[in-house]
Amino acid sequence: MSEVPVQSRIVVLVKQVLDANVRPRVRPDGSGVDLANLKLSMNPFDEIALEAAVKLKEQGEAQEVIAITVGRGKAQDTLRAALAMGADRGILVECEPELEPLAVAKAAWSVITDLEPVLVIAGKQAIDDDCHQTGQMLAALLGWGQALCASRIALSHDHAEVDCEVDNGRETLRLPLPAVVTTDLRLNTPRSISLPNLMKAKSKPIDIVASSALEIDVRPRLKIVEVREPRVRSAGVKVETAAEIAKVLKELTVA
Ligand SMILES: Cc1cc2nc3c(=O)[nH]c(=O)nc-3n(C[C@H](O)[C@H](O)[C@H](O)COP(=O)(O)OP(=O)(O)OC[C@H]3O[C@@H](n4cnc5c(N)ncnc54)[C@H](O)[C@@H]3O)c2cc1C
Repeated sequence: MSEVPVQSRIVVLVKQVLDANVRPRVRPDGSGVDLANLKLSMNPFDEIALEAAVKLKEQGEAQEVIAITVGRGKAQDTLRAALAMGADRGILVECEPELEPLAVAKAAWSVITDLEPVLVIAGKQAIDDDCHQTGQMLAALLGWGQALCASRIALSHDHAEVDCEVDNGRETLRLPLPAVVTTDLRLNTPRSISLPNLMKAKSKPIDIVASSALEIDVRPRLKIVEVREPRVRSAGVKVETAAEIAKVLKELTVA
């Protein structure tokens, strides 16, 4: 066990996803998105989560940041990126094939229970499945309070104060620690990775745990029936006046 006091540890969940700048390509058999030979990166909301954790450490609110990913062996690349952004160490819970959100939450829960962090930060959703579930399920498994879609996180010795983006504005929650927080876009702008930090990351430790060793049920509960490309949108029409809009709308209704 590390010498870092457990009460100053922050765990961040990071997921490897298809890079946000790459156009997704559906497999010919409609079974999912083809990831072969395409650039994979850290889920953008997780970069925000990691930036928040590293900032809290820089402010003296934490002493250790641990990045956890649940995925295939190549997800180690995303952990290395997390280490280059400022995480102190990484944990890969290795599994084939990709797990559903509840199984990911269970895998993270079984690792996190031993780490006893003061805070877990996750992205509000992953941009590949858009599920918006893992943080909530993890908080439920841990039995901790949760604050979702955070745009501000402040820590004190025994609680976190979190501003959450909600439908009718912003809500401020005060949670006893430990707690789970998920991040929204407004929380921060993640730092870019410098070459020296990339080099330093190579000597930071990554532990690998097989999901089969965790004694959790990760069997799939969902079946993907079909994945389709979105319908091709027809070209729009530019108009100058309200009368023209009315004319176009009338024509569309008739057509
Ligand atoms: C900043 C922001 C941006 C967003 N952007 C988008 C977007 O781009 N696209 C998008 O689709 N959504 C978006 N959303 C989400 C959307 O606006 C709603 O927040 C979301 O659809 C409601 O989910 P919820 O988690 O608030 O669920 P809740 O309000 O908790 O409701 C979830 C479900 O729980 C059940 N439930 C809740 N209360 C009761 C009750 N009293 N009795 C019985 N059943 C109940 C219902 O089945 C309900 O559907 C955004 C939200 C925010 C805050």
